[in-house]
Parts: sequence; structure tokens; C-alpha cells
Amino acid sequence: MLILMNLDAPRNDIESVKKKVVSFGCTAHEIPGASRLAIGLTGPTGTLKTEDFMIMDSVEDVVRVTKKYKLVSRMMKEDDTVIDFGGTSTGGKELTIIAGPCSVENRDQIFTIAEQLAKLGIKFMRAGAYKPRSSPYSFQGLKEKGIELLGQVKEQYGLKIVTEVLDPYTIDGVGEVADVFQIGARNMQNFSLLDAVGKTGKPVLLKRGMSATVEDLLLSAEYILAHNNFNVMLCERGIRTFETATRNTLDLNAVPVIKKHSHLPIIVDPSHGIGIGDKVPAMSLAAVAAGADGLILEVHNDPANAMSDGYQSLNFDQFERLLNKIKQLAPIVDKELIL
Ligand code: PEP
Ligand code: MN
Repeated sequence: MLILMNLDAPRNDIESVKKKVVSFGCTAHEIPGASRLAIGLTGPTGTLKTEDFMIMDSVEDVVRVTKKYKLVSRMMKEDDTVIDFGGTSTGGKELTIIAGPCSVENRDQIFTIAEQLAKLGIKFMRAGAYKPRSSPYSFQGLKEKGIELLGQVKEQYGLKIVTEVLDPYTIDGVGEVADVFQIGARNMQNFSLLDAVGKTGKPVLLKRGMSATVEDLLLSAEYILAHNNFNVMLCERGIRTFETATRNTLDLNAVPVIKKHSHLPIIVDPSHGIGIGDKVPAMSLAAVAAGADGLILEVHNDPANAMSDGYQSLNFDQFERLLNKIKQLAPIVDKELIL
């Protein structure tokens, strides 16, 4: 349920509405937004009557939200969510480019890549310290040491760090350097982890599970927003289909569909989506054309010798050429690449 109030409603009236919501055993969420004053209700709203709120001062309308997901829906919040990072933002006109290796491997590797990214004007670096690998015998990441190295490159180059958190136990350690917590595809429905990152209030990049529907993804995001953490970017990273010619099938349909149903930014990961480095630029451009708010790309100084996902990583030349093309394409879809 959604309660719409006068834009100039006095604080008293807003608090009275929230109090009444709580008295019914529900939770009241003040929905951020410039164009209207809205209070979203979650919990057992089925038994509530719209009249209970319609009679209250400053209430203009009470609307039932029919979708399973509530706070992530456009019905609850009309305006696009723009996540502010101070100097840059995600979800507005500016395209967000998150680039870097699949994994932090060693000091030399991460510094070489960070230096190159900074030179190109990239603001967000991705790199995993804790790696979710299909095989227990594959490289699992440098863990604490990787986080420490990310802290060092962050300090040296001023890059914002996007890195994966695998479980609730490592949130504090990862959170010391992460500007954005990445929740990987395999953890999209790890609900205790979603609750935990929700509570931090920090931005989250939530990747779509490989067999998850768009609705599943939005319901997972709902767990985070339910903690009043609206700083969520959704990520389409390819789904499993019968096709074996590519690693996954990048579902670009999801981009305009999500834009319609949700106010949250959507980032596309063509690297995992197609899984073949020289095909990544084509799918990156397609993602921007489809209306994505940004891209997360695997970029490596030496893809052939990377410890994970080298085959799908771009080298520096490929990455720079792609950026030039994105810059030209962006204005056609009312976006801008600022480097
Ligand atoms: C990654 O970003 O390196 C990764 C493991 O992604 P995903 O969770 O989408 O497989
Ligand atoms: Mn990877």
C-alpha cells in the first residue's frame, strides 16, 4: 500500500500516518523523491482499509500496490533512483563504467590495472577478493590480503571500489574498502546476506541469478530496500539457456522491462553475459543502446594469464576503443559518458 501526502504536509501529519501504520503491525517507509511525498507500507497490509488513512490530515490518496515487490516498484517511487557517490552518480544521465579484473591477484597486477583505469578517467574499479568459484579447487581469491590491496589502490588512485561480499561474516572487513558491495549471481537469493547488506545502508550491486527471473531479481532487491537502503543497482549478467556457444545468454530484454517496473538503476555485465572477450564490445554497445545505466566490465593487463575469467576480459586497448564508441553512442539514448 502507498500513501500519498501533500508535498507541504507538516511533519506532525506525516508522523501521525507512520504511527498509525505501525499500530497495524506494518512498517512505514518514507519514499525518497522530489515530485511527491509518499509513504510505502510493507508487512501485513492485506487487512488494512484505505479509508483508515484517507481520513487523515494531509493524505491525498491511498493506493494498493498489486505487485509482489513493493518498494522497488515504480508504483511506489516514480522517479529514477540516482545513487550519489559525490562527484559521480549512478542512475541519472551519467553512464557508470565499472571496470577491472575478475580477481585481485597480486600487488603488481592490481596497481597496473588501477593506474590505467585512473588514466582513462574511470571512477569505479571492480575486483574480487572473495571469489565464488564453481570448483572448490579453483583460485578462491586473496581474501583479506585482497581487501588490503584494494584499500591501497583506492587511496592511491581515488577509485571507488566495487567488490563482492560472499557472506554476512565478512561484511565488516569488505565494507572497510568497498564503496559498493557486489552480491554475486550465486548469492542473489541468499536472504540473510541481503538483509545484512541492507542494514549497512551502503550501495549494493545485486547481480541476477543465472536461473532467476526478472521478478526474482526484483524480489531479492526488495529485501535490501526493506531495510530502507534504496542504494541498489541491479545487474543483468546473463542467464542459463540451452545455448552453449556462449558462456551465458545476456538477457538485454531485462533492461527496458526493469526500467518500466522499477526505479532502480540497471547495470549490464557483458563480460559474464557472453563470456568471450572479443565479443564483449558488441554486447556493451547493445546494452547502452537498450537503456542500461552503466556497464561492469572485466579488464586485465594480461588477460591470457589472468587467474580467473581471462578469456572474457578486455585488454587495455580493447577497453579504450570501446570507451570511445560508448562516448559517441551515449547521447543517442540521452546518456553521457564523462571521463
Ligand atoms: C564476477 O563478477 O566476477 C562474478 C563472479 O560474477 P557473477 O556473480 O555474475 O558470476
Ligand atoms: Mn569474473
